[in-house]
Amino acid sequence: MTTIPGIHHVTAISGPPQDNVDFYTGTLRQKLVKKTVNFDDPGTYHLYYGDKAGSPGTILTFFPFTDAGPGRAGPGMASAYAYAVPKAQFDDMMGQLALQAVDFAGPVERFGARVITLRDPDGAPVELIESDEAQDSHGFHSVTLWENNPAPTIKLLTEAFGYQVEGHEKHGGVERHRLIAPGAERGRIIDVIRKEASAKGRPGAGTIHHIAFRAKTQGDQNAWIERLAEIGHRTTEVIDRQYFNAIYFREPGGVLFEIATDPPGFAVDEPAETLGQALKLPAQYEPMRARIERVLPPLRVR
Ligand code: ZN
Repeated sequence: MTTIPGIHHVTAISGPPQDNVDFYTGTLRQKLVKKTVNFDDPGTYHLYYGDKAGSPGTILTFFPFTDAGPGRAGPGMASAYAYAVPKAQFDDMMGQLALQAVDFAGPVERFGARVITLRDPDGAPVELIESDEAQDSHGFHSVTLWENNPAPTIKLLTEAFGYQVEGHEKHGGVERHRLIAPGAERGRIIDVIRKEASAKGRPGAGTIHHIAFRAKTQGDQNAWIERLAEIGHRTTEVIDRQYFNAIYFREPGGVLFEIATDPPGFAVDEPAETLGQALKLPAQYEPMRARIERVLPPLRVR
């Protein structure tokens, strides 16, 4: 039986793209690995950040809607993503952020590791967590799912996806369950939390749209469609996202889950050495390139 080898990518909604690029490539030193458009709305960008190869487990993607209203996380939504920072670099990194006058909260301790929380330009919480395993600061440490009732989500992650329960903690009114994908190289952890919500969540800028898990092959993704159907989760058909194939379904608590294939990867339509530099369009939009380029705001990448 196949198990899930960790997170493939996280997709979030942002406001104006330039602020987003400045924060993720500047403050957080992620690499822009793909500059393309929203395939359902080619007048807006779809931006992908990651390590320089665009490896699964490092990819954070944004739909930057210039007029997106502010959103806020609530139960039934993914509420945070965290990058793993090598333990030996954690103090330096905090010093660097302080020098750049970047505000952050913490550090606090979570499962024995220090965590600081930054706010991106749209207010999305970005966590940086010290890690013994991280080689650099490009891979995900974890993603947090906020649930009214964690049990059915934990059951899906453990019984179907093969995650193992690592433990739970309670701090400041937040009950946190930690699950780990055995054998995953990066993005191994899903935290499921329960806490009081002052208001209902609302999608919009600064919120996470969905979490994508990895399938290393197309065969694995096909197997997930069958396996999920057997346990009552109907997925979408396989959707070609140019850099991976995707299927989607809602987990029991309401978070949109995707399973995305590793192949073909981000070097499918431009050289690996210059990932993210040119505006890439899927074949159906290539004939409209001039018009699309006129509509998209210019972007400066440092
Ligand atoms: Zn996705």
